[in-house]
Amino acid sequence: MPYPARSAPERGAGLRRLVGRVAGQLRAAGGSVLDTLLPPQCLACTAPTVAQGLLCAECFRAITLIGPPMCACCGVPFASLGLAGDRMCPRCAEAPRAFARARAALLYTEGAKPVLLAFKHADRTINARPLARLMARAGAELLAECDLIAPVPLHRSRLLSRRYNQSALLASHLSRIALRPHLPDLLKRVRATPPLGDRSAAERAALLDGAIALRRPGRVAGRRVLLVDDVLTSGATAEACARVLRAAGAAAVDVLAAARVPLQRETRRE
Ligand SMILES: [Zn+2]
Ligand SMILES: [Zn+2]
Repeated sequence: MPYPARSAPERGAGLRRLVGRVAGQLRAAGGSVLDTLLPPQCLACTAPTVAQGLLCAECFRAITLIGPPMCACCGVPFASLGLAGDRMCPRCAEAPRAFARARAALLYTEGAKPVLLAFKHADRTINARPLARLMARAGAELLAECDLIAPVPLHRSRLLSRRYNQSALLASHLSRIALRPHLPDLLKRVRATPPLGDRSAAERAALLDGAIALRRPGRVAGRRVLLVDDVLTSGATAEACARVLRAAGAAAVDVLAAARVPLQRETRRE
C-alpha cells in the first residue's frame, strides 16, 4: 500500500525531528568531539547560540554569579543575609571547617539547575569547559595557590550509571587552565552513600564516616590540595574528603565548585 503523500511543511518537520534525534544520539554516544561538530546550543536549554559554551539570553538572566561579600571560609554570598565585610558566616564561625576555603561560580538557584543537571545527567560534557572557566574566575586565588587538583570521587556504582565523574571533568579543565597537576584518582569512594540532601549534619557525618579513602598517599604530604566538586550543598562530602587529605599531611585543602546552594536552604537542612 502506498504511503500517503506528505506536504512540504510536514516533510520539513520530519527532517528536523530526524536531525534532532541523530544529534541527540551523537551527543549521547560521542562526548566532546562530536559536540563541537554540532550546531552551538545554550548550556542549559536547546536554544541555538552563536558559539559553543554560552547561555542563551533567557538562561543567562536566570543565573546568579557569586561575588563578594561572602564568607571568608565557605564562600557563601552574604547578599541575601544582610551581612557584609570580610568575615565568616554563622556556620563557619560556630565550628571550624576541615577545608580552608570553598568557592563556587554560581548560586544553585532554579535558574542554575538546568545548567548543572544537563551536565550531570544529560551527557552534556561540553558544559565542562565553560563551567570550568567560570570556576577559574571565582576561585582564581585558590587555583594560583594550589599544588595539585583532585575531584571529589564518585562511587563505582554511580560512575557506571552516569558514565563519567562530572567533578573529574571540571578538575581536568581547571588543571589545564591553571597549569597544575590533576590527580583524578587521588581519592576513592569506598562506600556508596545515599543522597545527603535533607539529613541533619550529624546524620551526614555518620553516613560519610569511612566512605572516602586516599589512593595515593605519597602525593599529599605538605601539599596544598584543591578539591573540585560540581555542586556544594552542605559541604559535608567536601569536608569528609578534606579530613582524609589533612590526615595524610596535606598542608591545606581548598574546595572549588561549579555551584553552591544558598545559605538559607543549607541552614534549614542543618
Ligand atoms: Zn538557554
Ligand atoms: Zn561560611
